[in-house]
Amino acid sequence: MTTSAISSALRALVAQQAGHRCGYCLARQEYVPWPLEIEHIVPVAKGGGNEVENLWLACRSCNSFKGVQTEGIDPFAGQNVPLFHPRNQLWTEHFGWSESGELIVGLSSTGRATVIALQMNNIVAVTVRRNWIAAGWHPPQV
Ligand SMILES: [Zn+2]
Repeated sequence: MTTSAISSALRALVAQQAGHRCGYCLARQEYVPWPLEIEHIVPVAKGGGNEVENLWLACRSCNSFKGVQTEGIDPFAGQNVPLFHPRNQLWTEHFGWSESGELIVGLSSTGRATVIALQMNNIVAVTVRRNWIAAGWHPPQV
């Protein structure tokens, strides 16, 4: 997904609005060794543009797994539902942390579908969260 047409000023604005953390897994910029990415909530391939309302911050993992998806399957209902919209929806209404803090738990159809579509509990993410917990950095206050 190209972000070449997004100015540095717009990137800075989106990063500030997103609180310098991934809109999906809440990974904070200071905890990951690469810049968080500007993601298109509606992918360019599906008609999304570079207007601020369509941009948010995502970690490389969430952005890569999201790809061009805008919907996913809720495993409880077996139905296609919209993925989480980090700009318009509240994280805590759709997600929570497992008791250990290592796993993101989907609390709604959208939350469950997004956890699966973005592979938010992949082994690398869970391993990193385990180390953040040991360091006292996680889970974040939301
Ligand atoms: Zn993420």
